[in-house]
Amino acid sequence: MLASSWVTTIESVVAVGKILIDGGQSKIPRRRFLYLCSAGLLGTYVRPDNVRGDGAIVQPDVETERSFIARAFEMRRLAIEQGDQPYGAIVVLNGQIVGESGSRVLLDHDPTGHAEMAAIRDAGRRLKREHLSGAVLYSSSRPCPMCEAAAAWSGISHMVYGRNAERAGRPLLCR
Ligand SMILES: [Zn+2]
Repeated sequence: MLASSWVTTIESVVAVGKILIDGGQSKIPRRRFLYLCSAGLLGTYVRPDNVRGDGAIVQPDVETERSFIARAFEMRRLAIEQGDQPYGAIVVLNGQIVGESGSRVLLDHDPTGHAEMAAIRDAGRRLKREHLSGAVLYSSSRPCPMCEAAAAWSGISHMVYGRNAERAGRPLLCR
C-alpha cells in the first residue's frame, strides 16, 4: 500500500509536468488529474520510514541481547530524528522482533505514546492478538510505571533496558 502511495505521488508529479509542458493541453482527464494530485499528497503524508515501522521488521543477523538493545536504540535515534522524545523500544518473542517503536508522544500528540507503549501496540497489531506471553521488552531507558503496567497487562515476561542491558525483571502492575 505504501509503495502504491509513492507510485501515485510520482504519477502526480508526472501529470503536473505534462500539464506544464503541454501548456494545459494535457491528455489526462481533469478528474483523473485531481485524483492523482490528492492521492499523491496522501502518499507524501504516509511516509514509509515512519518510526512506528508499518513495514516488515528487519530481523538482526544474530539473536542476542546486545543486538536487541541496539535495535531499541535505533528506534530511539529515529524518534529523535523525527523530532520526538529520545526513547526507543522493541518487543521480542521467540527470538524475533515482533514490535518496535520510538516515542510517539509529540508526533501523535499522545501523552501515553511512550516508546514501550507504542512497541507493545505495534506487536499486538502485527501478531493480531492482545496477549504477548513470554515476550521480552527491550527499551533504551527503564520503563516508567505506565509502560511497566502495560507490559504486565500484555503478559510480557521480563524487561531489559539501557546500553548495558540491565534487567528490570518481571513487569508489575504497581511498584
Ligand atoms: Zn513509559
